[in-house]
Amino acid sequence: MEALRVIGVDVGGTKTLAAVVDRHGEIEQDVVHSTDISSQDALLAGLDAIVEELRDGREIAALGFGIPSRVDQRSGRAVASVNIPLAGVDFRDRMRERHGVPVGIDNDANAATIGEWHAGAARGARYVVMLTLGTGVGGGLILDGRPYRGATGVGAELGHIVIGLDGPPCGCGGHGHLESYAAGPVADRAARELYGNGSDGHELVERGRKGEPEAVEALAEIGRRLGTGIASFVNVFEPELVVVGGGFGTAGELLLGPAREVLAREGLEPARDTVRVVPAQLGFHAGVIGAGMIAFEALDAEP
Ligand SMILES: [Zn+2]
Repeated sequence: MEALRVIGVDVGGTKTLAAVVDRHGEIEQDVVHSTDISSQDALLAGLDAIVEELRDGREIAALGFGIPSRVDQRSGRAVASVNIPLAGVDFRDRMRERHGVPVGIDNDANAATIGEWHAGAARGARYVVMLTLGTGVGGGLILDGRPYRGATGVGAELGHIVIGLDGPPCGCGGHGHLESYAAGPVADRAARELYGNGSDGHELVERGRKGEPEAVEALAEIGRRLGTGIASFVNVFEPELVVVGGGFGTAGELLLGPAREVLAREGLEPARDTVRVVPAQLGFHAGVIGAGMIAFEALDAEP
């Protein structure tokens, strides 16, 4: 069999990572650029440029994009986005016309989930819940060995389950969502309360790693909130695995330990005892590898 290559692109609010990926999720070459968010046209032109730079005469079978957007899979449209100027664009058609190969697109957290499922912490599992903790809380599901995308492609926004009625505001305009309690900015706020205005979540995690009690407790409080979300997902989906990734997810056991305690209390038997709650393995490569797998999905769906 010929060794097909695709390009996966993980579009972030600050950086865009692109990689030539094979069917096993192995990265052959990758490149990272800052994302031009000055306008929608500039953003799209920047994405064209990064694809062309990587392609450079090479045989490429398809393109896949993970974008921080609500995606309508029926039309291939990016409906609305967070942190980038991309809304109401027929993204899939536009990229296919521009680059002349099949194109797959998905939400960035779905892409990260698919990446961890193919090549990382969730390899071989059939039922996976993934949460990415960053500026927001992203979510993705693998159910019965397939990515779950909901009726139109907006699923599964696990970060927006409501865990506190009339709770703190969420980035989406709602209140008391998991994201309002467990995203990176919550750690930034806790750090400022403890150490003053110059502090942030990175410092909180660093101090937590050194075992400073008030930092450990502040992170444990966030971890317990995360645990209410995880326990709810375990009760609903009975996954084999819950994978926690994203930049703030690298706080690891400082969050996951307290989260597991809540899971042990609030999860239903036997799922709470059999499910494993683990850190992601691929780091910032999860999204780009997943985007590559989405490219293969688009290629395989061709008549
Ligand atoms: Zn929300």
